[in-house]
Amino acid sequence: MTVNPRAPHTPNATSGIAAATTDLSKVYGSGDNRVVALNRVNASFREGEFTAIMGPSGSGKSTLMHCSAGLDSFDSGSVRIGTTELGTLNDRQLTALRRDRIGFVFQAFNLLPTLTALENITLPLTIAGRKPDRQWLDRVVSMIGLSQRLDHRPGQLSGGQQQRVAVARALVSRPAIVFADEPTGNLDSRAGAEVLGFLHDSVRELGQTVVVVTHDPVAAGYADRVVFLADGCLVDEMSQPTPDGVLDRMKGFDARARTS
Ligand code: ADP
Ligand code: MG
Repeated sequence: MTVNPRAPHTPNATSGIAAATTDLSKVYGSGDNRVVALNRVNASFREGEFTAIMGPSGSGKSTLMHCSAGLDSFDSGSVRIGTTELGTLNDRQLTALRRDRIGFVFQAFNLLPTLTALENITLPLTIAGRKPDRQWLDRVVSMIGLSQRLDHRPGQLSGGQQQRVAVARALVSRPAIVFADEPTGNLDSRAGAEVLGFLHDSVRELGQTVVVVTHDPVAAGYADRVVFLADGCLVDEMSQPTPDGVLDRMKGFDARARTS
């Protein structure tokens, strides 16, 4: 089957936007400890697109991901996954939406050490009491390149292999969108490239929608688009980024930060 990653998955279902934030704001603490982590952020993530989020440490990247994925509350504005407004959901509905429509990959792989790789991958379905879509599972599993190691436990796998298992777990329920927060942060560059390559393949071959936080211009070069955050604000974006182009843009931010 040939999948055109740019084509909407189901005609008329949505406007082709997998997730979007509107004037999203999030404040931590109060008084002297008050931190505006997100300041009226308008971001949208198109279906079948690979987006990288970049920005200095503390600029709000994780907060944006957590709020967009329904893992964290926000103070004002709105978030929608497809056509569903997160703010209208009760806790039970939000849990179901996270389970069925969102995949999340953390920097720490967060695999269960007593389960095999394959059991870890299918765990979200097991918990939901759902049977895997066999064809989808086979495609995801064949793409991670671990067919000889599916019965290994995480402790028997390298960091890069563990993270690929974690990505497969995020993909297994065929979510509307996968968020990955610095998924290569604990990996050397080669293992990191394999994880990013897998995420990239999931976009190109499976039509997945993926959003990745990264510090690495080379990693951002895998994306279709980069959005830049600074001090909780979305300050810039770049289409079809190259590592050199991203590096140049980041230098520009640093220079501005020094002169402001
Ligand atoms: P990034 O992922 O870009 O490094 P974060 O989203 O983690 O940034 O953080 C954005 C800002 O919010 C930072 O100033 C951070 O210190 C603050 N922050 C994040 N989480 C918390 C928290 N749980 N309590 C208080 N402040 C927080
Ligand atoms: Mg972070």
